[in-house]
Amino acid sequence: MESALTARDRVGVQDFVLLENHTSEAAFIENLRKRFKENLIYTYIGSVLVSVNPYKDLEIYTKNHMERYRGINFYEVSPHIYAVSDNSYRSMRTERKDQCILISGESGAGKTEASKKILQYYAVTCPASDQVETVKDRLLQSNPVLEAFGNAKTLRNDNSSRFGKYMDIQFDFKGAPVGGHILNYLLEKSRVVHQNHGERNFHIFYQLIEGGEEDLLRRLGLERNPQQYQYLVKGNCPKVSSINDRSDWKVVRKALSVIGFSEDEVEELLNIIASVLHLGNIQYGGEDSGNAYITTDTQIKYLARLLGVDGSVLKEALTHKKIIAKGEELKSPLNLEQASSARDALSKAVYGRTFTWLVNKINVSLAYKNASVIGLLDIYGFEVFQHNSFEQFCINYCNEKLQQLFIELTLKSEQDEYEAEGITWEPVQYFNNKIICDLVEEKFKGIISILDEECLRPGDASDITFLEKLENTVGGHAHLTTHKLTDGKTRKVMGREEFRLLHYAGEVNYNVNGFLDKNNDLLFRNLKEVMCMSDNKILTQCFDRAELKDSRRPETVRTAFSPISPCTTVTQANVVSLPLTSLSLSGRFDEVLIRHQVKYLGLMENLRVRRAGFAYRRHYETFLQRYKSLCPETWPSWQGKLADGVSTLVKHLGYKPEEYKLGRSKIFIRFPKTLFATEDALET
Ligand code: ATP
Ligand code: MG
Repeated sequence: MESALTARDRVGVQDFVLLENHTSEAAFIENLRKRFKENLIYTYIGSVLVSVNPYKDLEIYTKNHMERYRGINFYEVSPHIYAVSDNSYRSMRTERKDQCILISGESGAGKTEASKKILQYYAVTCPASDQVETVKDRLLQSNPVLEAFGNAKTLRNDNSSRFGKYMDIQFDFKGAPVGGHILNYLLEKSRVVHQNHGERNFHIFYQLIEGGEEDLLRRLGLERNPQQYQYLVKGNCPKVSSINDRSDWKVVRKALSVIGFSEDEVEELLNIIASVLHLGNIQYGGEDSGNAYITTDTQIKYLARLLGVDGSVLKEALTHKKIIAKGEELKSPLNLEQASSARDALSKAVYGRTFTWLVNKINVSLAYKNASVIGLLDIYGFEVFQHNSFEQFCINYCNEKLQQLFIELTLKSEQDEYEAEGITWEPVQYFNNKIICDLVEEKFKGIISILDEECLRPGDASDITFLEKLENTVGGHAHLTTHKLTDGKTRKVMGREEFRLLHYAGEVNYNVNGFLDKNNDLLFRNLKEVMCMSDNKILTQCFDRAELKDSRRPETVRTAFSPISPCTTVTQANVVSLPLTSLSLSGRFDEVLIRHQVKYLGLMENLRVRRAGFAYRRHYETFLQRYKSLCPETWPSWQGKLADGVSTLVKHLGYKPEEYKLGRSKIFIRFPKTLFATEDALET
């Protein structure tokens, strides 16, 4: 049998707190590398699970694996996403406390896959009944539907989440999953009308075109060729080798009926999806400065039918704008550019609101009251491209908030444990990214406030005046710089229309072009009116007439965006995923990439905090059970109090007073070497 020592040599330690040289980043990465080579993608830092995306099927998610992790002691089996799932489940059951699993990491890291694995684990291992089977199916089937409408191929990930998702899985008093609730954050709507080179629109468009039945496509007036549609050609990437749109279509159609969408609802939903494609193909004629007119009547005909609106009213609304001034309605013609953006604004609004409707509809089908919950937070990962715009700004801000929560939760739970066990310890210093969050979100002087202010300011407000305001207001901030503010050296790599944020994860340059429009998300009143008149039952729920009367400030991103609120009251383990590299280089352990992520995810920091106190802790019972054979007084069994047994045992083993502490229910061991020596004694 391989000794504990050589096994450690070969596969590394399964918890980073057991690393001898725990302050060395090189040792940290070497441990990840060793384990990855052995297909061990999971490693703990205490209760945090670190995982490295293998980009291949490791066959570690079978039913047998699930069984193996049921009811186990967190540390007794090798680290796994199922151990985290099981641990949360049991804490929820025994402590009657709601739980939350945060999943962070950059785009392509495997967050969405991890959240699906957790959901599958509960679906398979939790108690069931007939009614529960339906709920389980619905919970599981909500994924393909949400992914079809909310995920897309990006340069980083063929199935990238373009919205944030916080999903509650609800359990009844018997511990059976009985319901769920999904909160969605800020869908990247701009993708509906524009994609960067090599990227795609949301999956559903291609699924419908590739997989839709002949007569369905005929009804919708669609051709079986994505390249026919302006909204699908921008990225010049209709097909993706890892994606089968046709079979995905079948999966999504089936999922929609499992969740409880009626045939009529599906029909209306697809009418909307097809309408967006037709909208994209509307072309305008007219001079640059003159009035725009529509040259493509076929599209209007289809739109009128699919949306159940009057064609001439729609046509008028797509070329004119109506505003209310001094109580009077004024209509003015749009020029080419204005008309195109009005059309795109309508497409984004229709798609965005339909997505929200879809989520609500799923929620209705999963609704359950009075349950305990385990929440899963899976958002879009941190993104840095060559050109970063408003979308990346929002996504990265969301990640910044998540990182803040992650730090708070891990540190807090560590502190709470010492307190609960009656052990004294010194608080540790760590980098708190609050300073960056404040820079973005602070009232009156944060970036979003400044942006909101510019959006509402009549007159000459523009993206550039926004940038100037930034320079004047927060120009001196250590985490923000612009072309004008920097010295000659950095200027070269910064454009005149950019500002640079120093995120916890690294520097990102954002181009301010389009910031005002995207934040405003303005939809002209007459287009709203047309949508309110629609016969389509989904659209009548999405566009409420009351909205037309409402003269409040328009909704900006800030109002639509509260990434963390549902999560603040709950705690549980965290999963951190690291993507390795692009798909084409499947499974290569790229040290540079890994080092970068280890750094910005704050893993060394996390480890430092965990190690600042005690590397290792175990319940008395577990500890005694494992090592009782090493001491004649505790072998074969100890009759007295557990704490006394452990005390007798460690004294017999020669533990020095500074090496350990005895809490209320656990022993805390300061250094890994103490534990290793005890482990090695077992082997001999
Ligand atoms: P984004 O922020 O862009 O949404 P993500 O972190 O959600 O990214 P995923 O979509 O979960 O990333 O994963 C990207 C791809 O990596 C998957 O499509 C799959 O090919 C692969 N992958 C992720 N996790 C695993 C795993 N545990 N085993 C095998 N392959 C995986
Ligand atoms: Mg994802």
